[in-house]
Amino acid sequence: MENIVIIGNGISGITTARHIRKLSDKKITIISAETDYFFSRTALMYVYMGHMKFEHTQPYENWFWKKNRIDLVNDFVTAINHESKELVLKKGGSMSYDKLVIATGSKPNKFGWPGQDLDGVYGMYSKQDLLGIEKNAPDNEQCKRAVIVGGGLIGIEMAEMLRSRKIPVTFLVREKSFWNGVLPDGESQLINEHILDHHIDLRLDTNLEEIIADEKGYAKAVRTDKGDIIDCNLVGLTAGVTPNIDFLKESGIEIGRGVKVNRYLETNIQDIYAIGDCAEQHEGIGKRRPIEAVWYTGRMMGETLAQTICDNKTKYSPGHWFNSAKFLDIEYQTYGWVNSMRNKPDYEEHFHWRHSTENTCITISYEKDTKEFLGINTFGIRMRHEIFDRWLTEKKDIYFVLEYLKDANFDPEFFKNYEQQIVSKFNSEFNSNITPKKKSWKRIFSKA
Ligand SMILES: Cc1cc2nc3c(=O)[nH]c(=O)nc-3n(C[C@H](O)[C@H](O)[C@H](O)COP(=O)(O)OP(=O)(O)OC[C@H]3O[C@@H](n4cnc5c(N)ncnc54)[C@H](O)[C@@H]3O)c2cc1C
Repeated sequence: MENIVIIGNGISGITTARHIRKLSDKKITIISAETDYFFSRTALMYVYMGHMKFEHTQPYENWFWKKNRIDLVNDFVTAINHESKELVLKKGGSMSYDKLVIATGSKPNKFGWPGQDLDGVYGMYSKQDLLGIEKNAPDNEQCKRAVIVGGGLIGIEMAEMLRSRKIPVTFLVREKSFWNGVLPDGESQLINEHILDHHIDLRLDTNLEEIIADEKGYAKAVRTDKGDIIDCNLVGLTAGVTPNIDFLKESGIEIGRGVKVNRYLETNIQDIYAIGDCAEQHEGIGKRRPIEAVWYTGRMMGETLAQTICDNKTKYSPGHWFNSAKFLDIEYQTYGWVNSMRNKPDYEEHFHWRHSTENTCITISYEKDTKEFLGINTFGIRMRHEIFDRWLTEKKDIYFVLEYLKDANFDPEFFKNYEQQIVSKFNSEFNSNITPKKKSWKRIFSKA
C-alpha cells in the first residue's frame, strides 16, 4: 500500500489527508509539531477574547482521525533525505515515505531586532503564541501596556484581542498610513481613523529599534527610531509572515522564499510536493502572487493535490483573487485586484466612495481605456462572492457593475443600502447617468 506522509497539520495538510482518504485506501501519516490535532488558526483570537474555548477551534472530534485511518505523529521533522525517501525526526528515529507533502505553513517575521527573542515577545501565529500572550497579558493589572510591531491583518487582530481586556496598546507601523502597501489611500485613511477611535496609540511612520530587557530577561520597553522609549509588558511581532522552511536548507529541494512548485504543486524532487503558506509558485498564476498565505488557498491546494496523488493529475487553478478580513468591527472584502497607490499599474484607475459619517466605503478599480471592471474593495458592506467572480470572468465594465450593484449586495433587505449614493457620486464625477437596477434574485442565481 502506498505510504503518504504529510508534514504539517494545518488546513493544507489536513485537507490533503481527508481528500486522499475519500479517494483511496493509501496509508496516510501526518507529522506536526505544534498540536496533536488540527485547529482553526483564524479562530485563535476568539479564544483569548473569551468567545470560545480552544477545543471549539478543532473542527473534528479526536476520534475522527483513527476512524479514518489517518495516523497522527506529534514530532518535528528536522531533515529530509530524498534519496532514501526518509525523514529525520526530532524526538529520534526516522520515517520512510513513498510520497511526501510539505505543508509547514508560515512563521512570523523577525528582522534581527535586538531583544526579539526575549521573554514576553510573541508572534501571533501558533497555539504557543496564544499561551504566551495569555500568560503575559492576562489583564491590565499585569500588563500595563502592550506594543505591537507591524501593521497588517494579524497586527490589528492582536490589537483587538488586547483591547478586549482593556490593555493599553501602542501600535508601531512602519508605513505612513495603515496597510497602504495593500490598500488604496482612502481606505487606509479610514482604517487609521478607526484604530484611533478604538483608543489604540497608533504611531505611523515609526520603526522598532530595540526591545529592552529587565534584569530577569523579560521585555520591559521598546525604543523606536523616533527615540521614544515605551514601557510595556508584552511585545507582539506582527510584521508579516515567511514560509516555515528552514529545515529544508540541506534537502536538495529547490527553495526561494518558499518551496518552489509548479502548477501541479510538485517540487523539483520526484514524489515531493508542497502546498499552503509554504509553497511558492515559480510564477504567479495570472495576476496572483507566487505565495499566498491565506486559508482558502491552502484548502484548495490540498484538494487539488489529493487528486494528483490519487492518480488524477490536476492543475492548481485558484480562479480570481478574493479575500476578507476584519479591521476591528469593520468588515473588509476584496474581489479581483484593487492595488494600492504604490503598486497600481498605469492602466488601473479607481472610483472611490466613502460615507460621510459611517465607516463604510468602496473602491472599484477598472481599466483606464476599456473601462473593464478589475476589482472591488468594500468596507462595511458585505458583497456576494459569486457575483463578482462572474462579472470578472465575463469582463463586465464599471458601468455595468454600478448599474447592477444591488445584485451583488449580500446584506438582507432591512440593512441600509448605499447603491443610490454610490452611483450618484459616480454620475457626478464621470458625467454619466446610470440608474441602479432593482435587485433581481433571478439574475443573482442565474448561471449565465
Ligand atoms: C492570527 C491569524 C489569523 C488569520 N486569519 C486569517 C483569515 O481571517 N483569513 C485567511 O484567509 N487567512 C487567515 N490567516 C492565515 C491562515 O491561517 C493561513 O494561511 C493558514 O493557516 C496556513 O495553513 P497551512 O496549512 O499552510 O499552514 P499552518 O496552518 O501554518 O500549519 C503548518 C503546521 O506545520 C507545523 N510544522 C512546521 N514545520 C514543521 C516541521 N518541520 N515538522 C513538523 N511540523 C512542522 C507547524 O507547526 C504548523 O502546525 C490567519 C493567520 C493567523 C496567524
